[in-house]
Amino acid sequence: MVKILAAFDFDFTLVDNDSDHFVFDKLSPTLRKKMSELQSSVQWTDLMHLLLGELNASGVSKADIIQLLGQIEFNPAILKMFETIKNAGGDIIVVSDANTVYIDEILKAKEAKNARHYVSELVTNPGTWDDAGRLHVARRVSPPATHGCPSICSLNLCKGTEMQKRMSEYDIVLYGGDGKNDYCPMTKLGEKDFALARRGHSLEKLISGDDTYEKGIKANLLWWNEADEMLAHVEGILAKLKN
Ligand SMILES: [Mg+2]
Ligand SMILES: [Zn+2]
Repeated sequence: MVKILAAFDFDFTLVDNDSDHFVFDKLSPTLRKKMSELQSSVQWTDLMHLLLGELNASGVSKADIIQLLGQIEFNPAILKMFETIKNAGGDIIVVSDANTVYIDEILKAKEAKNARHYVSELVTNPGTWDDAGRLHVARRVSPPATHGCPSICSLNLCKGTEMQKRMSEYDIVLYGGDGKNDYCPMTKLGEKDFALARRGHSLEKLISGDDTYEKGIKANLLWWNEADEMLAHVEGILAKLKN
């Protein structure tokens, strides 16, 4: 049997939302404004950590955040895609710059449809609750450690390095994403692998702005707009592997 690894970015790939923005949009317009003001000067994970502390101090509880995260919807096509990959014997992982708590809670809220159960690993920034219900978020890679990637990855996470650590035991790798930070992992894929790139977000802007970027991807590059098109790509890939 062909061993398949399917890796997906989370925000605007598996869900049509950005979880970091969603939490503050819904729970604190004041802190959402502060996020915009500080995002050019404070590293993103550190900024989320800082703002989550202020959110807790303003009286928003752990239960409020978990309940809100549960409202982020999953397109049924994404759940169908997970099921299709599992039926083909594939492993599914999430590789994201959000955090473990957000992704875990959003997936768990859909556990009636096995969403959390299908995913074997969350490769992202660690999140932990303290006794006061404050969510702490840390960088996946913190100084003095570095991921050493010379590409366009942010300091705290190189999705390409994370993929390289996991790819070697698989025959075929699929990687789906929408953002600039999904470019590096797509360059790590081989010629028989598949890059599932979402249109309309920063990854497309990057690739269409300079064709040296597209040349950096050796894998089969398949574009999609909505979840049902990504599902169709995955169904097509898996059907061919079976034959
Ligand atoms: Mg994304
Ligand atoms: Zn990288």
